[in-house]
Amino acid sequence: MLSDAVQMAFNYMRTIKITDIIDIAVTAFLIYKAITFILRTSSARGFKGILLIVVALWISTFFKLNVINYILSKTVQLGFFAIIVLFQPELRRALERVGSGRLFNLFDKQLDESRTEAAIRQTINACADMSKAKTGALIIFERNIKLDEYIKTGTILNADTTSELLRTIFFLKSPLHDGAVIIRNGDISAAACILPLSKNPNLSRDLGMRHRAGLGISEVSDAVVVIVSEETGSISVATDGKLRRHLALDTFENLLRNDLIEEEDPKRKAVDMVRNTLKVKRDAARKNKKDI
Ligand code: ATP
Ligand code: MG
Repeated sequence: MLSDAVQMAFNYMRTIKITDIIDIAVTAFLIYKAITFILRTSSARGFKGILLIVVALWISTFFKLNVINYILSKTVQLGFFAIIVLFQPELRRALERVGSGRLFNLFDKQLDESRTEAAIRQTINACADMSKAKTGALIIFERNIKLDEYIKTGTILNADTTSELLRTIFFLKSPLHDGAVIIRNGDISAAACILPLSKNPNLSRDLGMRHRAGLGISEVSDAVVVIVSEETGSISVATDGKLRRHLALDTFENLLRNDLIEEEDPKRKAVDMVRNTLKVKRDAARKNKKDI
């Protein structure tokens, strides 16, 4: 029987043509691209909702739950139009990317990284100056979760990130100084953006709206947030709903680099993490000594 099965499998394999292999490979690649694209956007939750409805439909068909099945199948029929409306920004972006050939561009990532690297350098310079001058600033580095809904609330710039431009934007008398700058792939996408405020009830009372807005966006996305305080000039970084305050310039630089460009190298990341921890401890010890 076993040899029959092997024989059958062998016969079947012989019917596979090179076009079948290409067909499967291309389909798998497109499915992979579609899934990674959906997961990278902020609509991932909406997609999970749709998946849940489809699974519920299968289950109701299997167990012959007729009423539920009827309602769900009608929902799925309407859902087709809902998907187009719901994912309209993502579909448009995907088509734009296909049109510009970016979807298959292997050099994209490297290009984005060098732009991000330049943007980090310029941001550090600007923050050092703004910290000294006590100019308030709120700078958001977008990562995988797209921030279009917040970019739309501001003024679109799509400009190279330069220290001069950042300082000009946040200059107190500039019309764009209120709100946040959002940086996408190393470019200043927009300024004067309105962000959601943090929902954390345990925040220190001395944190005002700028810090709460910075923390808020880090709670709902994977963005890296830089805040310069207008009151104290101190620099803070928020990620994943956590705020690291009163950072020395080199700690600030390390944090930005670690979070934005060195994700792929775990060894280097570990070394930097240890270095940062030691640095934070040293700073704290120094501060303690001063306080005594
Ligand atoms: P600082 O230490 O600079 O005073 P803070 O945390 O005390 O910061 P506020 O003094 O309340 O904050 O800062 C007000 C500024 O925060 C506003 O002028 C505006 O630029 C910014 N801001 C307030 N709310 C938002 C928001 N929802 N989204 C983006 N920026 C905001
Ligand atoms: Mg304040």
